[in-house]
Amino acid sequence: MKRRDFIKNIAAGTAVVSTAAVSSLTRSHEYSSPVRKKNEFDVIVIGGGFAGVTASRDLSQSGANTLLLEARPRLGGRTFTTKFAGHDMDVGGTWFGWGQPSIWSEKMKYDLAITESAAIKATSFVWYENGKRKEGAAEDYWPTVYEAYDAYYEPAYKYFTRPHDPLYHNSEEFIKLDNMSAKEAIEGLKISDIQKDFVRSFAAINGHADSDKSSYLDQLRWLALSGFNKDFMWVNIGQYKLKNGTSELIEHMMADSNAEVKLGTAATRIVQTSSGVSVFTNRNEELKAKYVVMAAPLNVLKNIEFSPSISPVKQKAFKQGHTGSGVKIYIKIKGKHPIVYANGTEDMALNYLWTEYDDDDQILVGFGKDPEKIDVYDDEMVQKAVREYLPDAEVLESFSYDWNIDPYSKGTWCMYPPGMLTTAFEEMNRPEGLVHFAGADFANGWRGFIDGAIESGARNAQIVIEKLKNI
Ligand SMILES: Cc1cc2nc3c(=O)[nH]c(=O)nc-3n(C[C@H](O)[C@H](O)[C@H](O)COP(=O)(O)OP(=O)(O)OC[C@H]3O[C@@H](n4cnc5c(N)ncnc54)[C@H](O)[C@@H]3O)c2cc1C
Repeated sequence: MKRRDFIKNIAAGTAVVSTAAVSSLTRSHEYSSPVRKKNEFDVIVIGGGFAGVTASRDLSQSGANTLLLEARPRLGGRTFTTKFAGHDMDVGGTWFGWGQPSIWSEKMKYDLAITESAAIKATSFVWYENGKRKEGAAEDYWPTVYEAYDAYYEPAYKYFTRPHDPLYHNSEEFIKLDNMSAKEAIEGLKISDIQKDFVRSFAAINGHADSDKSSYLDQLRWLALSGFNKDFMWVNIGQYKLKNGTSELIEHMMADSNAEVKLGTAATRIVQTSSGVSVFTNRNEELKAKYVVMAAPLNVLKNIEFSPSISPVKQKAFKQGHTGSGVKIYIKIKGKHPIVYANGTEDMALNYLWTEYDDDDQILVGFGKDPEKIDVYDDEMVQKAVREYLPDAEVLESFSYDWNIDPYSKGTWCMYPPGMLTTAFEEMNRPEGLVHFAGADFANGWRGFIDGAIESGARNAQIVIEKLKNI
């Protein structure tokens, strides 16, 4: 009998096994679940993105009867892989690097192949100075930009010496920087106006919203998490991706999981009583568990009812949400072109545009901070946005997904608005009775990334595994 089926049967009480066999299977966890009733679980994990998939895999591997409840008809959440222009393309979360410990160890474990964005070998750089388009080589672009980054990231060296412990240096000054928007901070930097334009556009894309929407302090983490090395930061956030897409990793993780999966079913209400937690769904079901791991995105949590109600700090943070609300678009342009890396000002439709695949017809990826500035489904607007950088380009086709109107994400990646890190982060991570909160938007380290989702999912699974042992 395969290990998976064996554990399933143990969980169902149908496997005849010796105590020794059980303990070797459950090893250090020393927890095996009693026979269970229909719709009753040890743990219900709500949300099948990377956080929920990780949590349900780890929980079910420990022997806990686990249900993974997912609103959409697929797993992966804010990641999914599709074909575009002959390549496996990730529409949501894509890039990761070896400075991201949680995802990198999964990549190593399942021995998954990676590939690189073509723009790593860009020969043509395009940018804007005082409203005028400029073109040049790497050495004409990067030194000015990197000098500006140095000024921008200065406080990171002081405040994020332990970047996976984000509140380690909590102090008055730290709180002040958290309450300051990235835009405000950039105004005060001693750099040229052109450099300010570069950093504003960078901050806008990192927060995937206007630069005045996100906390300056929260923006500073990425450099610290990359060992305070700007090149390594790009390695982590924009160079490597899974060759066959993120869906391949989800598939491997699920193949290792014993969790039951229920797709197309959204949790609408969580009710805790002295005997456990009931999860009510949009299909009028009541599912019961000893614990819940809530792994739905921060921006949708305000739509889920909690009884008894959650703390006022959580309620406020869930209502406020994260800032990520921009666009990402893949664009195929006609013919061969130099490999390009283009970076405009914050107010442009696309703030960044670079070559993803150097094919006979080139494939670009573009990022914009504001869906109001570009309708990604309007070919003319896309053409216009591309020509701001590449005046001769002819757009053949493009592909994008609007995560902002999807009711199960209501946004893109997570950056916190001013004040959230120092006033709400700790509380957001505190369980409400039997309900634990997990996800990229709650992570300690690479918050807002796939890495953070895995980190947070794994940590919360482990906490619940320990709690189950004491029941
Ligand atoms: C356009 C875009 C580009 C990105 N680029 C990168 C990148 O290059 N690198 C990187 O590391 N990260 C990137 N990210 C961020 C990364 O994808 C996310 O941070 C990460 O995937 C989130 O994982 P998660 O499991 O926390 O949440 P999610 O992936 O959002 O998963 C949550 C799940 O909960 C489900 N759900 C919601 N409500 C309910 C409900 N009521 N009941 C049941 N289920 C529910 C959702 O359907 C979803 O499947 C990007 C994201 C986007 C959108």
